[in-house]
Amino acid sequence: MPQPWYAAGLAFTCTRCGNCCTGAPGFVWLSDAEVSSLAGACGLPDDQFEQVYTRAVGGRISLREKANGDCVFFESGTGCTVYDARPTQCRTWPFWEKTAGTPEAWVRTQTGCPGAGHGTLISAEEITRRIRATGM
Ligand code: SF4
Repeated sequence: MPQPWYAAGLAFTCTRCGNCCTGAPGFVWLSDAEVSSLAGACGLPDDQFEQVYTRAVGGRISLREKANGDCVFFESGTGCTVYDARPTQCRTWPFWEKTAGTPEAWVRTQTGCPGAGHGTLISAEEITRRIRATGM
């Protein structure tokens, strides 16, 4: 197996700035297990959680957003209000194929994520695990 470009690892420590959870519209895809986990965190049955906090997009389930594009669970000053139950997509950011799969992508990622390139050294093995976890 050839070594990935990030064989020496990449630094990342989240500053909780919220840039990745706010602003431009996007999608946070949820598996059934993640719906259940988030529903539990909200104290709701799965079906009620889905009605209130998710939307169907092309046969998949995504979290809703506020009118300004912020994640429905992002609160200014608090950050993510379901942090311990956050889905894989959020847990693996900024290590997705499109954000860390190439050196150029990682440079772009650092322009919007102040935690990328700073702090804890994440091993290549862990980065690969996170990239494969979402296929994003
Ligand atoms: S943009 Fe980066 S530093 Fe800011 S909350 Fe998201 S992951 Fe953390």
